[in-house]
Amino acid sequence: MSSTQLQARVDELRALLTRYNREYYELDAPSVPDAEYDRLFRELKQLETDYPEFKSAHSPTQKVGSAPLAEFSQVTHEVPMLSLDNAFDESEFAAFAERVKERLDTNAEVIYCCEPKLDGLAVSLLYEDGKLVRGATRGDGQTGEDITQNVRTIRNLPLQLTGNYPARVEVRGEVFMPVKAFNTYNEKALARGDKVFANPRNAAAGSLRQLDSRITAQRPLHFYAYSMGVVSDDLELADSHYQRLQQLASWGLPISAEVKQVEGSVGCSAYYADILKRRESLRYEIDGVVLKVDNIRQQQDLGFVSRAPRWAIAWKFPAQEEMTVLNGVDFQV
Ligand code: NAD
Repeated sequence: MSSTQLQARVDELRALLTRYNREYYELDAPSVPDAEYDRLFRELKQLETDYPEFKSAHSPTQKVGSAPLAEFSQVTHEVPMLSLDNAFDESEFAAFAERVKERLDTNAEVIYCCEPKLDGLAVSLLYEDGKLVRGATRGDGQTGEDITQNVRTIRNLPLQLTGNYPARVEVRGEVFMPVKAFNTYNEKALARGDKVFANPRNAAAGSLRQLDSRITAQRPLHFYAYSMGVVSDDLELADSHYQRLQQLASWGLPISAEVKQVEGSVGCSAYYADILKRRESLRYEIDGVVLKVDNIRQQQDLGFVSRAPRWAIAWKFPAQEEMTVLNGVDFQV
C-alpha cells in the first residue's frame, strides 16, 4: 500500500470506530457486532504500530468510551476509569504474561486474580461515612454521567456499608442484567407489543442511563464490585487485589463467586478453560475473563498506558454470535 492509501485506510477506520463508539456508548444502540468492532480496532492498532507516523492522541485506539451525554450532570473521576487491553487467544495472553514478568524483572511465578468479564456497564459508586452519595458512569474515563438516583434502585447494591469501612471510598464494578431476568423482561415486552432489548449488555446500559429513575427501578439490574478508586487513608487496605475484593465483600458489597487467585500463566489458562466450559450455566453473560496481577505493589510498578493498565488483560472468549436479526422484532435501544 502506498502512503496515501495507508492514510486513507487509517482515516476510514478512525471514522468508522468513532461512529460505532457513539452508537455503542452514547446511544446504547450498536449497529455492528462486537467481533466486527474488535477486528477494525485491531487493524487500526496494528497500522499505528507498524507505521508510527500515523499515531495520534485523537485516535480511537487512545480513547476510553465516549463523552457523557449532555442530559446528565457530569462527574469528574478523581482517578480515571480506564479500559482493558484484550487478548483474543492463548498466544496473545502468553505474550502479555511474558511482558509482565520482564517488566517486573522476575523469574518467579506472578500471582493473578482471575475474574469473569461481566458484560454490562462500568459504574463508580462513592460512599461517604458508609452512605452511597454518588453513582456515575465511566463516560470517557475522565468525566462520567451522574446516575445517582438510578443506581439507588439496584436491589443488591447497598445504600449503607457495614462492618469496618473507610470514611470515603469509591467502589467500581459492573451493572448487568442477569440472563434469566433479561429473557423474562423481553418475553413480557413482546407480549405487550413493546420493544425488546438486543442483548443483556444493551439492556443494562439502556436501563441504567435513563433520565427517569422510576424506569430504571422497574428493570432487573444487578451489581458486582471489582475494584476501588479513591480511598481515604483511615483504613489499611490489603496489598493483594483478591484480598481487597474480600474487604469490599466484608463491607456488604456483592462480588462474583467466580473470583479466584491463581499462580502464573498456567493457572490463568486453567481458569479461562474452566469458565469457558461453564459459560452457559452462569447466571450472567460474560465475554471473557479478566486476569489481574494480584500484588498491588507490582500493579503500581507496572503502571498504565494511555487507556489501560499494564497489569491486567481481558482474555476474550471466541465471538459467540454475530448480531442476530429477529424478523419482526423491534429492538429497544
Ligand atoms: P472492555 O469491555 O474490553 O473492557 C473494560 C471493561 O470491562 C470495564 O470498563 C468494565 O466495564 C468491564 N469489566 C467487566 N468485568 C470486569 C472485571 N472483573 N474487572 C474489570 N473490568 C471489568 O473495554 P471497553 O472499553 O468497555 O469496551 C470495548 C469493547 O466494547 C470492545 O472490545 C467491543 O467488544 C465493545 N464495543 C462494541 C462496539 C460496537 O459497535 N459493537 C462499539 C464500541 C465498543
